[in-house]
Amino acid sequence: MEDKLKSLLFEAADARAQIVRLDKTWQKVVSHNEYPAPVVELLGQLVAASALLSASLKFEGSLILQIKGDGPVVLLVAECNSKLGLRATVKLDETKAIAENASYKDLLNVSGKGLFVVVLDPKNRQPGQMPYQGVVELSGSTIAESLENYMRTSEQLETRLYLHANHDAAAGLMLQQMPGEGGKRNGKSHDADGWERLLALGHTVTGSEILSIALDDMTHRLFWEENPAQLAERTVQFECTCSRLKVGRMLLRLGKHEVEEALKEQKQLCVHCDFCNSAYIFTQAQCEHLFEAEELEENLNADEEEDPIKDLRKDGDDQPTIH
Ligand SMILES: [Zn+2]
Repeated sequence: MEDKLKSLLFEAADARAQIVRLDKTWQKVVSHNEYPAPVVELLGQLVAASALLSASLKFEGSLILQIKGDGPVVLLVAECNSKLGLRATVKLDETKAIAENASYKDLLNVSGKGLFVVVLDPKNRQPGQMPYQGVVELSGSTIAESLENYMRTSEQLETRLYLHANHDAAAGLMLQQMPGEGGKRNGKSHDADGWERLLALGHTVTGSEILSIALDDMTHRLFWEENPAQLAERTVQFECTCSRLKVGRMLLRLGKHEVEEALKEQKQLCVHCDFCNSAYIFTQAQCEHLFEAEELEENLNADEEEDPIKDLRKDGDDQPTIH
C-alpha cells in the first residue's frame, strides 16, 4: 500500500517535480460509489492532480479542482488540503448512457460548454471572505491537458502533467518550470536543456508502470541520471470534512418549504455525504428546531453585521444531497 507524494528539485534546470501514488486513499474514494470505468479513470486522474498541485502550492487551505461537464458527467470534484487530506466525488446525468470507450469529450464536453474551475479556499476563512476562484473553458482532450492550459493561462506557469488511474490506484507526475529562480542555483550553472530532458522523461511514463511500481522505484527509474534534490516525502490520506452542522446549514439553505415537503414523504430525512457516504438523520422535530433556531437568530441579529445564519447560508461546494 502506498499513499505517498515526493517533491523533487532540479536546481540547474530551474524546474521541480511532484510525483504521487495513491492506493488506499484512492480505493476509499471509489468504494463509496459505483462509477463506470471511464469515470473512475477521470476521477482518479483529477484526484492525483489535486494532490500534486496542492503539494506545490505555498497555501494553507483546500485546493478544489472541479470540472463542470455538459455530457453524462455533470461534475467531477477533487479536493485536497495542505496536509494532503483529500476527497472526491462525481455527479452523473443518469439519463445519459456512458459507453465503455467514451472519450473525454464524450463524457464532459459534448457541446463545448465544459468548464474547468480551480478554487483555493483558505484555512480559517473570515466571514464574508470569498475563496479564490479561477474558471476557464474546458480545453484539451485529457484532464492533464485541461489543467496544463489552466496553469498556462491563469498562473503563467509552464506545467506538464502525466496522470493515470484505474480502479485500484491513481498516480501522477507533475513537472513545473520555476521562473524567476534563476539566480538561486547555489553556484550551479544553468542547465539549458534540462527542461526538455525532463519532458522527454515524463513522456516515457506509462499507466501500467506508474500504477504498479513502487513510488521510490518509479522515481529512481525516471530521474536517477538527473540527480534531483528530494525536498519532501509526504503521506496522503482520505479525509472528509462533512459534519452534522454542515448538513444542518444545507437544510437551512434548502428552505423550510422544501424540507417540509420532503418530510411529507418520509418521517425523517436521511442525508448522505456525496464524498464519504456518511448518513445524517434529521427527524421532523429536529428539522423544526433547526428552522426555529434560525428565526430566533434572525431576530437577534437583525441589526448586527455578523450574522451567523447568513454565514450558514453561504453556498458551499460540499452540499450533500438528500437520497
Ligand atoms: Zn463526508
